[in-house]
Amino acid sequence: MRSLARLVSLVEDGASAADSGGPAPPLRAVLRAVAPHTGTAWVIGLTGSPGVGKSTVTDRLVRAYRETGRRVAVLAVDPTSPFSGGALLGDRVRMSDHATDSGVFIRSMATRGHLGGLSLAAPQALRVLDAAGFDVICVETVGVGQAEVEIAGLADSTLVVMAPGLGDSIQTAKAGILEIADAFVVNKSDRPGAQDVVRDLRTMLAMAGSDRDRGGGWKPPIVSVTATTGEGIDELTAKLGAHWTWLGESGLRQERRVKRAREEISAIAVAEIRRRVGALPGESRLDELAAEVAGGKLDPYSAADELIAD
Ligand code: GDP
Repeated sequence: MRSLARLVSLVEDGASAADSGGPAPPLRAVLRAVAPHTGTAWVIGLTGSPGVGKSTVTDRLVRAYRETGRRVAVLAVDPTSPFSGGALLGDRVRMSDHATDSGVFIRSMATRGHLGGLSLAAPQALRVLDAAGFDVICVETVGVGQAEVEIAGLADSTLVVMAPGLGDSIQTAKAGILEIADAFVVNKSDRPGAQDVVRDLRTMLAMAGSDRDRGGGWKPPIVSVTATTGEGIDELTAKLGAHWTWLGESGLRQERRVKRAREEISAIAVAEIRRRVGALPGESRLDELAAEVAGGKLDPYSAADELIAD
C-alpha cells in the first residue's frame, strides 16, 4: 500500500513537473508499464458543494462495495488547495476505519496552482489505481465550477450530491451540473427541506427536458439517502449498478473512455508544446518573431507556426 501511495505521488509530481516545463521520465516509464493492465476499474465521481456529505456518502459506498468483495480506492481531489498527499478531505476520520483493510486505498490530491495539473495528474493517478487492481475508484471533488465538471468527466458514473439547507438548487443550475449527473443523491434526508430539494430537482430536470438526455436514453434518477445512518444506500448502489450495466449495453462506456483519452492526449500535447516553446534556446527565436509581429512584418499565426515547427 505504501509503495502504491509512492507511485501515485510520482505520477502526481511527474504530471505537474511536465506541466510546468520539466521532463518527467519516471512518469512516462510508470505509465508505459501500467497501460496493459488498465481498463477494468469502474470510476464513480462524486461532486457537490462542501458540506453536503460527499465524504460520508463515499464512505458508505466503500463499505457497500467491500461487502461484495470488491477492492475500492478513493481519490479526493481538491482543486482549491495546494497541499497534496496529506490528511486532507478524503483522508480524515474515515481513513482510520479502513486503515487495516488492504482492499481500500484512500488518497487526497490537491491541484491548485498547477496550470492544467488537474487534467494531467488525476487521470494518470486513476490509471495507476486501475492497474493496481481496484475494481471501484471513487473520485470525490470539492467545490463547484470548471474543475468539478472536469473531474466529473473522468468518471464512468457521476453522482451529484446535494443536501437541504445549502442553497444547492441555485448553484446546481449555475454550475451546469444537470448535464454531468448520471444520478442525483439528495443526502441528509433526515433533515427538514430534503423533500423540497427533490421537488426542485424534478422541476429542473423536467424543464431541461430532452436536453438532459446524454444519449441512449438514460434518465438520471434522484436517490434520497441519509449517509450517516446508511438509509437509501442500497437503492443508490442498485441505481449505480443499473447505470454501469446500461453504459456497457449502450456502448457509451467505451465511447466515453475514448473521448476521455482524446482529452488526455490533447492536454499532454498542449503541455508538451508549452514546454517546448518555453525551452527554446534563450527564447531568442520567440523574441525575433515577436519583434517581427510587433513591427507588422509578420502575422502572429504564421509566427506561431514557425515557432512550433520542428
Ligand atoms: P463533504 O464536505 O461534502 O464531504 O461533507 P461531509 O461528508 O464531510 O459531511 C458534512 C457534515 O454533514 C458532517 O458533519 C456529516 O456528519 C454531516 N452529514 C453527512 N451526511 C449526513 C446525513 O445524512 N444527515 C445528517 N443529518 N448529517 C449528515
